[in-house]
Amino acid sequence: MAIADVSTQVRTVSHWIGGKLVASESGRSGTVWNPATGQAQAKVGFASATEVDQAVEIAKQAFVEWRASALSRRAEVMFKLRELVDANRRRIAEMLTAEHGKTVPDAMGEVARGLENIEFACGIPNLLKGGFSEQASRGIDVYQIRQPLGVVVGITPFNFPAMVPMWMFANAIACGNTFILKPSEKDPSVSLYMAELLKKAGVPDGVFNVVQGDKVAVDRFLEHPDVKAISFVGSTPVARSIYQTGTRNGKRVQALGGAKNHMLVLPDADLGMAADAAVSAAYGSAGERCMAISVVVAVGGVADPLIAAIRERMTKIKVGPGMEEGNEMGPLITREHRDRVASYVANAASEGATVAVDGRQDPAFKRDGFFLGTSLLDHVEPDMRCYRDEIFGPVLSVVRADTYDRALRIINENPYGNGVAIFTRDGGAARQFQFDVDAGMVGVNVPIPVPVSYYSFGGWKASLFGDLHIYGPEGVQFYTRTKVVTSRWPDPGTSKVDLGFPQVR
Ligand code: NAD
Repeated sequence: MAIADVSTQVRTVSHWIGGKLVASESGRSGTVWNPATGQAQAKVGFASATEVDQAVEIAKQAFVEWRASALSRRAEVMFKLRELVDANRRRIAEMLTAEHGKTVPDAMGEVARGLENIEFACGIPNLLKGGFSEQASRGIDVYQIRQPLGVVVGITPFNFPAMVPMWMFANAIACGNTFILKPSEKDPSVSLYMAELLKKAGVPDGVFNVVQGDKVAVDRFLEHPDVKAISFVGSTPVARSIYQTGTRNGKRVQALGGAKNHMLVLPDADLGMAADAAVSAAYGSAGERCMAISVVVAVGGVADPLIAAIRERMTKIKVGPGMEEGNEMGPLITREHRDRVASYVANAASEGATVAVDGRQDPAFKRDGFFLGTSLLDHVEPDMRCYRDEIFGPVLSVVRADTYDRALRIINENPYGNGVAIFTRDGGAARQFQFDVDAGMVGVNVPIPVPVSYYSFGGWKASLFGDLHIYGPEGVQFYTRTKVVTSRWPDPGTSKVDLGFPQVR
């Protein structure tokens, strides 16, 4: 059966190494579920350390030629890839829906936001331009060039199985590196389809590889001497540990972690607009987005009318299989995760919160798939578990704050600092918030401020470990290292011995 066939029969998902499918021989595997039915739909073979070593060796060999390829050739490949992904948006989206569960329109959005990164990488000749200083000293020029690192690895989460890999591999490959993707074992198939598209676009064998697996594969990447850099996106505990181990082993690491994204609503905000934004950003993709709004901080007397407006909108959301037209929210990724999310709603009242809407009452909760309706928790306080933990599901908490200062303190004391939004009609208040807030991405009347691909994406605090944000200009920085050349072409007749330290003359 073709690897891109997402039919309901159980198939086996392989690696992609050296331009072809390679079955895992480790004897270890995981189940890929269909979250909309609760049935197993595939097995994914998990790489052994030896299989990781084989992939790294192939990527290392491919690096020799690829780093020497012309910039215009790499740009041409990216242009072709852009056309192929564009032409197959729907196909990719349906693959995402089949394994992740998100609705097809939501999956189309994921593809579009990933595609932006390939478009950015089409400009690689311009992005890799260095600097040149003529006559830094008499007859001496100094210039800086950017060179690729070698074999680089991307480890990605389940919630954006197409977009997050595109955040990484577009720039990594365009910069002249060879790339190994270790996708989430929960929805691994789309990575193989992307590999086919990369091959069709003209990416030479061995430049893009996919190694399926779990911690065993990741641990081997972390210690392999030929892996020069690791981009990781996933939960905070894993991000922290990958950053610590990877950097200890001398690798360049950027590790993006989890989030608790706040939406601050000031009393002057347009409440209808704020409610639309809160509902869209909290429940889109069943809350399984690292930029989902999970907390509304309502300032002053805004809470009651805002909650009423949110409730009115929530009750209209259609929950059901993502493949069926008209459904707005699909299932969660696994039964275990759905039950964990539901447990926060079940325990909220005992913590002192008010369960304003209970997602377990939604008829979809009783279906065979991993569904849960939308939940709204009111009177949430910062010391409650439902506030402290990243729930990563369709649960929105409302924290009430008397003043802007109290609201800001709550947000800044939260350990995460990924995205944050303010809703107000007061430009001065918004500007002050942008100045004050400890978060990497700020939305002003924008609930999900994911930067466009020519900026870079990244949170602060426990939402990112490392120095550089992902994709955009910082992505290019991450995947290259600079070299500074000092050069002169003097008349040999003027040459003499001089033991003094070189200085500008
Ligand atoms: P996860 O941390 O469980 O898994 C991420 C990747 O790490 C997967 O490829 C997985 O196989 C691997 N992994 C898991 N446990 C590991 C371990 N112990 N050692 C080594 N590797 C391990 O995350 P997830 O559940 O797939 O994704 C959801 C999480 O990702 C949420 O916390 C979400 O906020 C976060 N996320 C963050 C961003 C961001 O940009 N900051 C984007 C998307 C998702």
